[in-house]
Amino acid sequence: MEGLAPTLFGKRLSFANEVKYLGVNLDPKLTWNKHLESIKLKCTRSLMMARRTFGKSWGLKPRVMNYLYREVIRPTVTYCAVVWWPKTHQRQAKELLDKIQRLGCPCITSAMSSTPTLAMETLLGLTPLDIHVKGTARTVAHRLKLNNTWITQHHGHSIITTAISDPLFEMRSDMMAVEENFDNPVNVVIETAGNWGVKETQLLKKGAVVWYTDGSKTEAGSGAGIHCVKPRVNISPPLGTYTGVYQAEVLAIRNCAEENINMGLSKREIYIFSDSQAALRVPGHKGIVGNEQADHLARMGSSRPFIGPEPVIGLSNSETRTFIKSWAQKAHQDRWDKVSGLRHSKLMMLGANKDLTMNILSLNRKNTRLVTSLITGHCGLRKHLQTMGLYQGQVVCSLCGECKETATHVIFECNSLTIWRLTVGLANPQQDIHRHNLTKKLLKIARIFELS
Ligand SMILES: [Zn+2]
Repeated sequence: MEGLAPTLFGKRLSFANEVKYLGVNLDPKLTWNKHLESIKLKCTRSLMMARRTFGKSWGLKPRVMNYLYREVIRPTVTYCAVVWWPKTHQRQAKELLDKIQRLGCPCITSAMSSTPTLAMETLLGLTPLDIHVKGTARTVAHRLKLNNTWITQHHGHSIITTAISDPLFEMRSDMMAVEENFDNPVNVVIETAGNWGVKETQLLKKGAVVWYTDGSKTEAGSGAGIHCVKPRVNISPPLGTYTGVYQAEVLAIRNCAEENINMGLSKREIYIFSDSQAALRVPGHKGIVGNEQADHLARMGSSRPFIGPEPVIGLSNSETRTFIKSWAQKAHQDRWDKVSGLRHSKLMMLGANKDLTMNILSLNRKNTRLVTSLITGHCGLRKHLQTMGLYQGQVVCSLCGECKETATHVIFECNSLTIWRLTVGLANPQQDIHRHNLTKKLLKIARIFELS
């Protein structure tokens, strides 16, 4: 083999079993083992460094750590995921990814080391990493396809397009090449809310054509509204179900400009008022007659069905992103529903819940830890401490002395807390999550049992 090695500038190159190219570790059989190991090492190092910034009850806030984990650590994992994602089907790789998330979650919650990863993931609304990797791979595949750089094959990493598929991905996109136009005949003025109304009349030159445009999206569909005061014009095209509000707003302005050309008004002074932040801003709809009319027209457009092939305008990126997000949430929920064990956590949570996650992340480090421990059952109560080998005494409830002191007992059953439970309404924590006050009640329990 040595004799076959190529030379470069007179120097004989040697063969290597691995090579790092553009940050990806390649091995001869493309097993990606080396790459995953290097990801794990990188993430572990970063998380260990992060661990020095907080203790049990001090340091970086859970909210900040949550951001760092999601936006700094996780992208390290998903880098180039589009080529190695099939690896997530292998048990070993899945475990390796789990280990990374297992290190990350306690950095956010300060939870006890025994806390199950899936319980923490569900609590924090963090999609399990193997699912997240797949979702990211799908997003990238879609982007490459839009750029005409995706080669469709029916094996290897290319099958991500069939693994996660939806008619959405086949629709044309609203992506377009960036074009710079320095010769801009349009002037954009953004007026503050206070100045509006006072300046409106001063702003307009006499004899100018004044237009109001608006976009709207309802359950039934989207629509645009274009209204001109003089000459009187009212247009309200329906835009189907895939058009976003922003797209409808921009389309309304574009159609309005076209209408001006068609009506031969191009030599006149033209004003187009839009309430979209994209261009100009008319504060709210209320009170400004022309704008209310445009709003009304847009609603009319959105209530009428669009006749013809959808999407009316190319699909925006956010549409596919939303689809992948809900795909990942569903996969996460499936895993939560099917997992065995986690009896107490399942009593407390039906699945990932955005309100609960936001509530927990808004607490300080100590309280986040206490609430997490009571929701997962891995807490400082006697029974769990005994299981962990940290407590040798009696495990009966220190309040009622009847049953074992577990999280399920103190939250749902303890007779000594019956009256308090009835007054605060802690009958069903799964419902309480939606009432925004579960964390407060759990912290009260933590105080009663002197958890720290
Ligand atoms: Zn009790």
